[in-house]
Amino acid sequence: MDTLQVLVLLTALQALAAFAMGGIALAVGGERLALTKSLVALGFAALGGYFALSLASFLLAGAGPQWANTRTLSSLLAQFSNLLHLGLLGLALWIARHRQPLRKRLVVAVVLAALAGALILTLPGAFDLQAGALRNLLRLGVRSLITALAYAAIALVILRHRPPEGRSLGYWLVLCAFGLLALFNAVNASLFFVPDWLPLAPEASAWLQLGLLLSLLLLAIAMLVWLQERTQAVVEARTITAERMVHLDEASGLANRNGLLKRIEDSTGPNTPLTLLVLHVQRFALLERTLGPAWALEALRRLGEALGRGRPHQLLGVARVDSDRLAVAIAADGSLADADVLARRREAENTALTLGHPVAVSFGYAVRQQREAAATLLASACLAQEKAEASGMRMLRFEPEQARSDADEVEIVGALYRALGEDQLFLEFQGIFEAGSGELDSVEALIRWRHPSQGLLPPGRFLPAAERNGLMGEIDAWVLDRVCRRLRERREQGLPLVPVAMNLSAGSLLDAGLVAAVEAQLRRNGLPPSLLELEITESAAMLDPGRASSVIDALRALGVRVALDDLGTGYSSLSHLRDLRSDRLKIDRSFIGDPKPFGRAIAAAIAALGRSLGTDVVAEGVETPEQLAFCRAAGVPKLQGWLLHRPSKEWPPLRVALPGQAAGGDAPPI
Ligand code: C2E
Ligand code: CA
Ligand code: CA
Repeated sequence: MDTLQVLVLLTALQALAAFAMGGIALAVGGERLALTKSLVALGFAALGGYFALSLASFLLAGAGPQWANTRTLSSLLAQFSNLLHLGLLGLALWIARHRQPLRKRLVVAVVLAALAGALILTLPGAFDLQAGALRNLLRLGVRSLITALAYAAIALVILRHRPPEGRSLGYWLVLCAFGLLALFNAVNASLFFVPDWLPLAPEASAWLQLGLLLSLLLLAIAMLVWLQERTQAVVEARTITAERMVHLDEASGLANRNGLLKRIEDSTGPNTPLTLLVLHVQRFALLERTLGPAWALEALRRLGEALGRGRPHQLLGVARVDSDRLAVAIAADGSLADADVLARRREAENTALTLGHPVAVSFGYAVRQQREAAATLLASACLAQEKAEASGMRMLRFEPEQARSDADEVEIVGALYRALGEDQLFLEFQGIFEAGSGELDSVEALIRWRHPSQGLLPPGRFLPAAERNGLMGEIDAWVLDRVCRRLRERREQGLPLVPVAMNLSAGSLLDAGLVAAVEAQLRRNGLPPSLLELEITESAAMLDPGRASSVIDALRALGVRVALDDLGTGYSSLSHLRDLRSDRLKIDRSFIGDPKPFGRAIAAAIAALGRSLGTDVVAEGVETPEQLAFCRAAGVPKLQGWLLHRPSKEWPPLRVALPGQAAGGDAPPI
C-alpha cells in the first residue's frame, strides 16, 4: 500500500470515527443534557461529512479537468462541514455553560458564518488551474490553522470552567484529546505555511493523519467516559437530595423524626445508653399565626441549638419531631442522663425567654431501661411531656409503671367503644321530686356499663378515660338517642311523662353540631323540646364561657331546658355564672352531705340565689331525713337522692313518701 492509499484509508477512517462519535454523543448522557448532546452529535456528524467530502475532492483531483466544478463544490461543502463542526461544538459548549435555551438567531449566525468561511476558503483560485498552491494553502493550510485555533479555544474554555461534578478522568481525557487535535492541526497547518520546517513529504502527512485519527478516537472514548461520569454524578446528586429530604425538616433545617431515629440507629446499638428529651413549644400555632412563620421557625432553630449545647460527646442529634416539638438524643443513662437533661432544659428555657417574645416550653424525657427501641423511647418522652403539660409541670420523666396504667386506659377505651355497639351500656333513671309533695318532677338519666369481665361499672370508672380519649361525643350522642327513645316509647304507650335530664360533657357542649343534633333527635321521635333537659357542669361552661352561653341560649330558644350541674364545685366566679341563663341550678352533693356549717351555708345561698333569679333549684344527694329537713328549711324546691329514690332501670314512681309528710299520699307505682 503506498502512502496515498494510506492517506485515503486514514481519511475514510476519520470520517467513520467522526460519525461514530455523533452516535456516541446521542446515546450517552442524561436527559438534562439533551440539547448539548444533540449539538455535539450534529457537530461530529458534520466532521464526518468533512472527511467524506474531502476524500471525494481528493479522489476527484485525479479524475480529470471535466470534474473540476464538482470537485470545487465538494471542497466547498467539505469546508462548510468542518466550520459547521467547529461552530456547533462551540454552541454546545456555550449552551452547557450558560444553561440557556437555544436561540434560533444564534443557530442561523453559526450556519451563515460557516458558509461564509467556506466560500472564502474555497473560492479564491477555484477556477484557475494554475492556482493549485493557493488552493492547497487555503483549503488545507488555513483550514487546519482555523481548526487548530478552534480546538485550542475549546480546550481552554473547558479548562477554565470546572464542570459541576468536578474534574474527573473523563474531563481530563476530553481536554487532552482536544489539545492533541489542536496540536496535530497546527502542525498540519505549518506544513503549508513553513514548508522548510518540515519536509512536505506525503509520509509526514500520513503520520499526521494517523495522529488526528487517534486523537479523534481518544476524544470518542473520553466523551464516553465523561458523559458516563456525568450521568452518574447527576443520579448520585438526586439520590443524596432525596435522602436528605427524607431525613430533614426542610423548613427549620433541623433533622426530622426519621433523621433523628436514623442517626441514633447508626451510632448506637440496642444496649447502648440512650435518653430522649422532648421539648414542646406551647401555643406554637398561636405564636406562628401572630408573630409569623419566619419568627416561629427561627424560634425553633434557636431552641434546637440550645438543646444541642453542652456535653457534645453525649449528643447524638437534635430534631424537629412534630410541628411544635423538638427532641434531643443523648448517649447517657442513670444519673448522668438526669444531669444532662437538666442542663439542656436550663439552656432551652433561657433561650425561650430571649426570643423577642417569651415562649412557654414543657419537657418530657425517657431513659432506656431494657433495650427499648429509639422510636418507643421517643413516644415515651412525648407522653411524659404531655402529662407534664397537662398537670402544669415543666418537666416529667417517663415512668414505665405509669405507662402500664396508661395502657390499661387505652384498652378500656377500646372496649368502651365496642360496648357502644354491643348493648353493654344502659341507662338508669333517678327521680327528682318536689320537696313539699314528693311528686315526681323530672328524671335524670345516668349511664352504666356492664363490662363482660369486670361486671357493672359506674360512670366514674370509665367516663374520665373516655373524656381523655375523645369518646365523650359518641357517648353523649348514644345517651341522647336512648333518652329520646325511652320518652317516645312512654308516650306511645300513653304513660305519664316528665322531663328527662341527661348529662352533657364539655366537649359536646362546645361542639358546633350540638343544637342541630338535639333538634334532629327531638323531631325524629316527635317529642316536644320541653321534655328534654341538658345538664351542664359549671366547669364545662367555663372552658369557653362566651361560646357556652351562646349554645345555652340557642338550646333554650329551641325549648330545651338547661340545668347547671354540680354548682359551686368549679372555679367559676359568680360574675361568669350571671351570664349563663339556665332553667335550673343543681346544688352539688358535697354541700348537702357536708356536716360542717360552711357547706350548708353555700347550699342555702344557692337556694336563695335561685329564688331571687326565678330559677328552679335541685339539691342532689339527699341521703338522710336530716338532710331532707335542712333542704326544706333552706327553701330548696326539688330534691334528688337515695333517700327518695335510687337510680334504677325502671321508671321512678310518680310520687314518693317523704319523712315528716302525711302518709297515704303515694301514687300508684307504674
Ligand atoms: P352527676 O351528674 O352529679 O350525677 C349524680 C350522681 O350522684 C350519680 O352518680 C348518682 O347515682 C349519684 N347519686 C344520686 N343520689 C345520690 C345520693 O343520695 N348519694 C350518693 N352518694 N350519690 C347519689 P353516677 O351515676 O355514678 O354518676 C356520676 C357522674 O357521672 C354524674 O354526676 C355525671 O357527671 C356523670 N354521668 C353519669 N351519667 C352520665 C351520662 O350519661 N353522660 C355524661 N356525660 N355523664 C354522666
Ligand atoms: Ca347530673
Ligand atoms: Ca351533679
